[in-house]
Amino acid sequence: MANNKLLNDFKDVLRKEGLKITPQRIAVLEEIMKGEGHLESEDVYMAIKVRKTHVSRATVYRTLDILVQHGFARKLNLGDGRARYERKIDSPHHDHMICNDCGKIIEFVNDEIEKIQEEITKQQQFKLQQHIHQLFGICKECQ
Ligand SMILES: [Zn+2]
Ligand SMILES: [Zn+2]
Repeated sequence: MANNKLLNDFKDVLRKEGLKITPQRIAVLEEIMKGEGHLESEDVYMAIKVRKTHVSRATVYRTLDILVQHGFARKLNLGDGRARYERKIDSPHHDHMICNDCGKIIEFVNDEIEKIQEEITKQQQFKLQQHIHQLFGICKECQ
């Protein structure tokens, strides 16, 4: 893997969690770090199987969980009850538009929206720690 520091950090995390460092767990990290969007646990499982690495769904799921807990990945809830995962490291904050037809996810950042959210919370003397902004609709291709 290209990023050795990342790999070493992940190995430290596995040790801390009392888990063995296995090619399977490293493969889960690699699939997430490819940064190819918003993957379901099943997508990661299939991607690893295609690489002819034997892995169980439970291992994939548990490893994704660890990646989220330790800040390597974000877990998204897009309202359909299916968790999606995306890389968090080196991936700045962004929000999502979700197509109700094909399920496509479009990422966006809008400085004005970010600013307005901060202003609104400030008015309420509310200390904003994070936000989730999701827009649901029909994408260009599906219209
Ligand atoms: Zn669509
Ligand atoms: Zn995203």
